[in-house]
Order: sequence, then C-alpha cells, then structure tokens
Amino acid sequence: MTVLIKAKASNLLTGRTAAPKTGHDKPHPVRLLPGLFQVGGGLYSHSRDACSYLIANESTGECIMIDSGSHSGYDALRANFRQVGDIKQLKLVIGTHCHWDHVEAFGHLCQDTQTKFALHRLDAEAVRTGDPDLTCAGFFYNEPFHPFPVDLELEGGETYEVGDYRLEILHLPGHTPGCIGVKLEYSRTGQVILIPGDSVAGAFSKRINSSSRAWKSTMRKLMRQNFDFMLPNHLPNGAQTALLGDVANRLARSNRQLQTDFHAFMDNQWN
Ligand SMILES: [Zn+2]
Ligand SMILES: [Zn+2]
Repeated sequence: MTVLIKAKASNLLTGRTAAPKTGHDKPHPVRLLPGLFQVGGGLYSHSRDACSYLIANESTGECIMIDSGSHSGYDALRANFRQVGDIKQLKLVIGTHCHWDHVEAFGHLCQDTQTKFALHRLDAEAVRTGDPDLTCAGFFYNEPFHPFPVDLELEGGETYEVGDYRLEILHLPGHTPGCIGVKLEYSRTGQVILIPGDSVAGAFSKRINSSSRAWKSTMRKLMRQNFDFMLPNHLPNGAQTALLGDVANRLARSNRQLQTDFHAFMDNQWN
C-alpha cells in the first residue's frame, strides 16, 4: 500500500533529527537511517515499552509506525513524533503482536489521529476483547487493556511502500500465534533490515498461547533469509538503540539459547 498525504513543512523534510533539549537520557527520536526513526521504547519513551519505529517518506511526510508501546510512554512517543513530523499524517500503525507493551498506546493514538491499526488475524481477538492473559496486560504488567478495533487483519505476505522503503509482513508465530516481523528493504542501498518484534527473543508461556514448535519453524524460516541488520524489540534499562549487524550469527545464537532454555523449562509450560 502506498499512502499519499499532503506535503507539509516539518522536521521530516529537513532530514535532521532534533537534538534533545535537555539531558542525554531524555526522550528523543533517533534517526537510524534516512526515513527510519526510533520514536519509542526504553529510554526513548518508557522502560516498559517495546521499541517503536517510524518509517517515513521524507519528501511527502507519509509515514507508518511499527508498534506503539503502551500508555506508559505515550506522552514521550508523541513528543518524539513531533520532533520528526506531524502525528496527524500517520496513516497506519502495524502491531507486531497483541501484547500490551507493544500496542496498547494505539487506544490513545486512534483518538488523536485518523490512523488505522493492522495486526495479524490470529492476535486480533485478544486486542478486540482486551484479554488480560493474551495481551499480557494483567498477566505480566498488572494493567488494564482497554480494547480497540483492528482495522486491518494481516495474514503475512502483505507489502507496503513508504518513501525509500518496501515493507513486507512476515508471519513469525511462536511467542504468540499472530506474531509478525517486518522485512524492510531500503532501496537506496539495497540493504534489508528485520524488525522482528518479539518473534526471535520473546518469552514463552501457555497463557499467551506460545508454541515452541511454531517458534522453531519461525527461526528456521528466518535463518534461511539474508538480513543486513535487525532492530531491537526491547532495550535494556538505559541502553541506546542501534542497527544490529551480524544478523545470521544473532539468529543462530538466539536459536541455540532458546533451544537450551526449552529443555530447561520443559515442565508442560510449552506445547
Ligand atoms: Zn510479546
Ligand atoms: Zn515485547
């Protein structure tokens, strides 16, 4: 899908990331590549929130967000967005899966914008009902999840174009049944970037319908592909973000570690 919106003067058009006004650890956006920003997660919004990425056409202002975080970091997310563009020009938010720390802020975003929300169909019901287990909201965060509609149910294989980027939705089940990742192709250099959500390094529990078998299949699928970089799903306290290289070895290492952990925790937690 290509979304077109009116060009509007904004920092997006300058190609610069505004410097934080005070203190190096205050929320601020990070321009990872031209048109690719981190606008939330860890020290960029709130420590509980997963990483949020913004993919933008720096000429026209059109943009798509991958994950929104929760209400914990929503004010910071908005402030970060304001430094790089106009939040009202956000046309689509793609959730990597149904968890509170990845998507709950969409309930606020949809009141402030006309943007739509896309999620894999196998995770959609959890968001529509605000299920406290399946969204992790009650089960892990002791927070409510105020439900909201899913405008666009994904299957995997969908493609979108924004500026210099082509996005492809990869269905990567295991952590949850509807986990997706986004494969980003940057046309200026041909580099391919994986935004994995929690599909590679997520936790596993029956209460969120995790499947070790699905996860192993997901890892095999990812390890057959070539990625130049991947992006963090979560940042440890105080950690700065980066494009992560050496992806083949990162995936192989995650695969080995989780294979080991599965054996260590094989106490009917996994199916
Ligand atoms: Zn998760
Ligand atoms: Zn997560």
